[in-house]
Amino acid sequence: MYKGSCFFLVLKGYAVGISLLLVPHATIAQQILNLGPLPGVGQVTEMLEPGTGQGFSGLATIYMGQPVIFYDNVWVQRFGGVGSPGFRFIRAHEYAHHFRGHILAQLNSPPQMLPTLGYQAELDADCAAVRYLRQTGDPAAIQAGYQIYQTIVPPQDMNGRPGSIARINNMNGC
Ligand SMILES: [Zn+2]
Repeated sequence: MYKGSCFFLVLKGYAVGISLLLVPHATIAQQILNLGPLPGVGQVTEMLEPGTGQGFSGLATIYMGQPVIFYDNVWVQRFGGVGSPGFRFIRAHEYAHHFRGHILAQLNSPPQMLPTLGYQAELDADCAAVRYLRQTGDPAAIQAGYQIYQTIVPPQDMNGRPGSIARINNMNGC
């Protein structure tokens, strides 16, 4: 969720694909999560991958031609693990990137458009996540989302990405 530009997101998806091709099968500790569909939204393949806890926590992208969400297992542990309120917020946010057309927009846009697109797409995904979690009666996940942004995202906008102030103001209006 907090990650580089959207251009980076797309590249990262391909970078993961390339590294998987180069790494022998036995050493891959990537895990497919069988969480089922996001109720009322749909199903995207979700993978927990060995991460660094320094880049993205969740990444919605196209991988091998399929819509996929990757989660960094270090971040997921920090948020309280798979299924925790923090994870549920990240999950709703990443699903929003897929189901609100952000990923295809990224893939089809010229690079100079991407920072703006990424900025709006982030705020839009946050709002969709808040509305979804409100509808499904999950205020703990919404609270966890606020807490995550307050603790891991710099306050000011940076590199075409919304900072925590912009994100929280936006979420307050959703
Ligand atoms: Zn995002």
